[in-house]
Amino acid sequence: MGRSVASGDGGGVGVLVDLDDTLFDHTLTVRRAIGRTRHLVPEFAGVPLDRLARRYGELLNATHSRVLHGELTTAEARAVRWRRLVEEHGGRASARRAKVLATAYRRAYDALRRPVPGAATLVRRLAAVAPVAVVTNNNAYEPERKLRFLGIRDDVHTLVASAAVGVHKPDPRIFDLALARLGARADRSVMIGDSWEWDVVGALGAGVRPIWFNRFARPRPPGPDVAEVDDLRPARRIVELVRSPRARAPATRVITRRPVRGR
Ligand SMILES: [Mg+2]
Repeated sequence: MGRSVASGDGGGVGVLVDLDDTLFDHTLTVRRAIGRTRHLVPEFAGVPLDRLARRYGELLNATHSRVLHGELTTAEARAVRWRRLVEEHGGRASARRAKVLATAYRRAYDALRRPVPGAATLVRRLAAVAPVAVVTNNNAYEPERKLRFLGIRDDVHTLVASAAVGVHKPDPRIFDLALARLGARADRSVMIGDSWEWDVVGALGAGVRPIWFNRFARPRPPGPDVAEVDDLRPARRIVELVRSPRARAPATRVITRRPVRGR
């Protein structure tokens, strides 16, 4: 699917990239959407936006895993989060109220979407040197919409959404599948993502060299030394990391060591 932009140098190089909070600024979009929706909930009066957004993010993480395991639909999960958020602030949310809030939030989220700065330029530059797969833990349709919003759908060789393929990061099989679609070799490819648990640990488990996009300045978990960037800009720096694995000794060591998954 999409335009096959580059087959790289023919050496089996592939670039796997995460979507949310790597290319698409999910965290900022959530914060903006909460900011727009909060006035619908009188119980939120006086609660700082940062606190609301942080709590919503926590609820999102908790329900997201239930969505990944097929226990909730995306829409159900959204309503569950809103009911919890209202209840935690002393209110009550009937099924109907939760649904109304979830729908309003959803509209705000769509209207206030933001890319991670530098994302589109980076993907275009990467696609010029190697085929790119976006690998995301999500349903099949949401990532498509986000790629189109970002204007990079045609630069991405394949989109691998966990719900569509039946496995999710950090399961190595989702990385294997992405590599197969790209015709790429694990030991020549990279995975760029913000989640240590899903993207970095997952890539290592599949024998793929990770580049950790530590955009929120999180403390580095104990374990393997992997290449780390805190900004997608300049694209040149990351393209160089992709093209010249041996320029960064620690990352190279990680590939050959193939550390165990999980912590
Ligand atoms: Mg992410």
